[in-house]
Amino acid sequence: AGLGITKITCAGEPGAGIPSTKRRMEEAWNAKVYDHAGATEIGAWSYECRHQPGGMHVNEALFLVEIEDVDTGEIIETAGRRGKMVITALDRLAQPCIRFDSKDVIEWAAEPCPCGRTFRLIKGGVLGRTDDITKVKGVLLAPASIEEVVRGMDGLSDEYEVIVDKLGDVDRIKLKVELVPGAEERAKEIEGRLKDQLRLKTNLGYRIEFYDYGRLPRYEGKAKRFKDLRKDKPV
Ligand SMILES: [Zn+2]
Repeated sequence: AGLGITKITCAGEPGAGIPSTKRRMEEAWNAKVYDHAGATEIGAWSYECRHQPGGMHVNEALFLVEIEDVDTGEIIETAGRRGKMVITALDRLAQPCIRFDSKDVIEWAAEPCPCGRTFRLIKGGVLGRTDDITKVKGVLLAPASIEEVVRGMDGLSDEYEVIVDKLGDVDRIKLKVELVPGAEERAKEIEGRLKDQLRLKTNLGYRIEFYDYGRLPRYEGKAKRFKDLRKDKPV
């Protein structure tokens, strides 16, 4: 906190686009946290402006971003419908990048940004990856919505792990979380709230496993928190 850091820009993971994760980082560093997304193949295609409207601007001076319906390939122009991003870089000469499928899941925001920029906004930043979104018990699940719940819950650490497997024909989903020191005796109460919030946000019931602080794996770089152990994964 004494380092004098006032602004942090995050990229590479949905983290800074998930409100509860962003809040935890801002409190820990006492600094503003900004989200940013890019891809090695394309370049830095989006950024969060100073107004932090709950999403990112697409840099439309350099990129053409389209959102495609995952099932039909239809181009989505309306706000609030998720699809995968298909992006064209307008400034690449040596290695053209035309309608590249980045596997990022995004949706257009309904309102323009109060900052006045006309570059369109994507609501909530990058919402996940087409690779990550899977069906559990027939319900579409985006792991980022689990993160939003876990990190919005006081008494839990930042770490978690999700394991999906199958017992007979039935999908099961387990969430491993860590209690922060001092929260041990509140485990029952936290479990109740956690299950309620998860059902509300993801429409699924979970088995919760509590671990002592420091027991779940820590990651440097991209975290692998979602494990799908089913042999025949639904498409
Ligand atoms: Zn703005």
